[in-house]
Amino acid sequence: MEIVAYPDPILREKAEPVYNIDQDTLDLIEIMGELMYGASGIGLAANQVGVAKQIFVFDLDYREKGRNLNALINPTIVLAEDRIEFEEGCLSVPDFLAKTTRRKYIKVTGIDKKGKPIDREAEGLLAVCIQHEIDHLNGTLILDHVSSLKRNLYTKRIAKLMRRDRDR
Ligand code: ZN
Repeated sequence: MEIVAYPDPILREKAEPVYNIDQDTLDLIEIMGELMYGASGIGLAANQVGVAKQIFVFDLDYREKGRNLNALINPTIVLAEDRIEFEEGCLSVPDFLAKTTRRKYIKVTGIDKKGKPIDREAEGLLAVCIQHEIDHLNGTLILDHVSSLKRNLYTKRIAKLMRRDRDR
């Protein structure tokens, strides 16, 4: 497995809910964690490894505190307050930063990898990270948060790179 990049169509798929946390699901979560750490990311959604299931992993401060991989399955934002301006990158959208406006405080529900219900509040970077990953599960990318001009410049740049690779 590897992290897929735009314009892979899986990134535009809406992920399906997970009804059964079996060994395959746990293996997938472990692999997603390894890929995320390997790419120095702080979050990764299942779409990004080619699986359209409602799962994402995240770990914000492993550089300072050591690894503690969190997984959230079937996440739903049940409360969102205030707004925060952010600049976000994405492992599936290389060499691109998007200025986004996100909700500053959120409350999210779902289940963890043990099947335990999760109901947690988040703010700041964690809130932004969770919103970014839930975007992925809905087929939304940071490209959708910028102007069409900026988006078109990026898609043209990627198309050109792909043509160059193909013609090589
Ligand atoms: Zn992303």
